[in-house]
Amino acid sequence: MSEPQLVKRLEEAIESIPDFPKDGILFRDITPIFLNPDLYEDIIGEFVNFSRGKIDAVCGIESRGYLFGIAIAVALKVPFVLIRKAGKLPPPFVAESYDLEYGSAEIEMRTGQIKAGQRILIHDDLLATGGTTEAAAKLVEKQGATVSQFSFLIGLKDLQGENRLKDFNAEIFSIIEY
Ligand code: IMP
Repeated sequence: MSEPQLVKRLEEAIESIPDFPKDGILFRDITPIFLNPDLYEDIIGEFVNFSRGKIDAVCGIESRGYLFGIAIAVALKVPFVLIRKAGKLPPPFVAESYDLEYGSAEIEMRTGQIKAGQRILIHDDLLATGGTTEAAAKLVEKQGATVSQFSFLIGLKDLQGENRLKDFNAEIFSIIEY
């Protein structure tokens, strides 16, 4: 559970924009957080407390998963590994595809950047349906590492993304839930 005061400050900072990027979607915009270094620092502190002593590397999902993920990894003095959308990383890389509402997408990670047996934190800014995060977790397991934790700034409860992550038997943490 996050400190109530931090959740309140986050609620005030995050802007909710109806019908973006398409009708019916309520978009949660986290960009105002980065105007406030004290708030950013406290968020990192919360993530770091969740993961301290429990992980050997952080895998962040492009692109907003990088915004907090790198700071978490630096604070814990563990490697940070980028999970990128298809077509952006040079070979060799491992890939995993996942379904979108229409069609499918693919994410990739450079081969050898995580090691077999490592305990991995998968981090992203927001958990919606869980499709992206589930694919990231498969990418980690494909390389013989273990997904120990998932962390998100925001969890969208109604979309039940946590259900898709259950099979990994990892801890799941969102600082704020809607
Ligand atoms: P999922 O695969 O459905 O869980 O979607 C999660 C991904 O979509 C994350 O990488 C988010 O950055 C992005 N995303 C979905 N909805 C929002 C939103 O309302 N605000 C910001 N990012 C979002």
